Amino acid sequence: MPQEIRTITLHGRLYAVNCYLAKGDAGHVLIDTGLSTRRVELARALDSAGCGPGDLRLIVITHGDADHAGNAAYLRGTYGARIAMHRAEWQAVERGNMLLSRGRMRFLRRTVGGLLFRFAGLHTPDRFEPDLHFEDGDDLSGHGLDARVLHLPGHSQGSIGVLTADGDLFCGDLLTNLGEAKPNSLVDDPADLEASLDRLRNLEIRTVYPGHGQPFPMELLRMGPA
Ligand SMILES: [Zn+2]
Repeated sequence: MPQEIRTITLHGRLYAVNCYLAKGDAGHVLIDTGLSTRRVELARALDSAGCGPGDLRLIVITHGDADHAGNAAYLRGTYGARIAMHRAEWQAVERGNMLLSRGRMRFLRRTVGGLLFRFAGLHTPDRFEPDLHFEDGDDLSGHGLDARVLHLPGHSQGSIGVLTADGDLFCGDLLTNLGEAKPNSLVDDPADLEASLDRLRNLEIRTVYPGHGQPFPMELLRMGPA
């Protein structure tokens, strides 16, 4: 990982979420923001990285789940950053319902599972309308980061990753490393997930930085299941 990117791991009661802070030419770029319950820790980490109000220019949210988007609205309000997401995730963060970024899983809506999803969604003050629509191939160099956006559906319809010119991939929740580096078992569309993985296997990726768990070499996935 280039020196200027640092991992901020926010530990919750049940699990931990990673945010990644990059220092670009034009200010800082933050990839994902963690749960709102860890706001103080996040602000402290930004502060110790020298990123105060006015320094944070862009927030990239890999997907609209509350553990990644939980502090986006707060950071925009306090730091003045703009928020970028894939269009297919906007409804989920505008309305605080993670099923709205899902196609196949929407059938859960009228079930207990659907209720759980609602319960785990963004609370009203943390809901927001993003500022920028990111899609596949978008270049981040205008935001001071030598990287591009990859649309990687599977976990949700508008999941995106950020791939730097150095071969570092910030993959959101497409892949996780909780005991083992592997595709996320929480899948909206298995065919989409498979297609996203196939695509990654053919790209120049060195290290994967997941939303949950430690970074791992992409080589682990290229080898496929043992
Ligand atoms: Zn997550």
